[in-house]
Amino acid sequence: MDRQRVATCISLLEEQYGIPYPDERNPVDLLVMTILSQNTSDTNSLRAFAHLKSAFCDYEETLAAPVEAVADSIRPGGLAEIKARRIKEALSRIKQDAGAISLSFLADMEKDEAMAYLLSLPGVGPKTASVVLLFAFSMPFLPVDTHVYRVSRRLGLLSEDVRPEKAQPILERIVPVEKYHSLHLNLITHGRLICRTRGPKHEECALRNCCGYYLQGQKP
Ligand code: SF4
Repeated sequence: MDRQRVATCISLLEEQYGIPYPDERNPVDLLVMTILSQNTSDTNSLRAFAHLKSAFCDYEETLAAPVEAVADSIRPGGLAEIKARRIKEALSRIKQDAGAISLSFLADMEKDEAMAYLLSLPGVGPKTASVVLLFAFSMPFLPVDTHVYRVSRRLGLLSEDVRPEKAQPILERIVPVEKYHSLHLNLITHGRLICRTRGPKHEECALRNCCGYYLQGQKP
């Protein structure tokens, strides 16, 4: 992948959607939100997170509550029992390791050590861990969700045969570190608004002149 093409895509996305500000969320909130986002829509997972936060005063109370009560509070997000168990197990491990339900100790770790710790928590995969480390600690990870994966392949930033679990290190190699945050969020926005799974709106897309998928379709 030529770096000029990557730079062009980043710049066109920033012209379209701006340069997103870093999210200053609590890392435990980010962890819980990302667990809730697994296998459901953004709307449902945000609703589940809001219900969880209003059902319990804090994460200590969530941890002390029965799994069924936590599951009831996150029902709109789907897979409520599984996610409730994962959240409680993750909170319990964090408390056991840090003495409190806080992930602030990750700030003192090297990036790979922090990643390894999060991956050791139940229900936490590379995407969830990368979201927490990028957004709460500004560590250089570029999380790949379904939108980032789909739009990157269409643009030609990833080749067609790259599987989702292999995409993150490839993107991290070709994207400048200072653009991880911007590209991640802008690809998600672009994937939701324009480059949708079904019926991508090519004619409204500012990136069509550098998009492999679109240009391929224009060939006679
Ligand atoms: S031109 Fe079409 S396929 Fe390419 S990024 Fe835009 S909407 Fe997606």
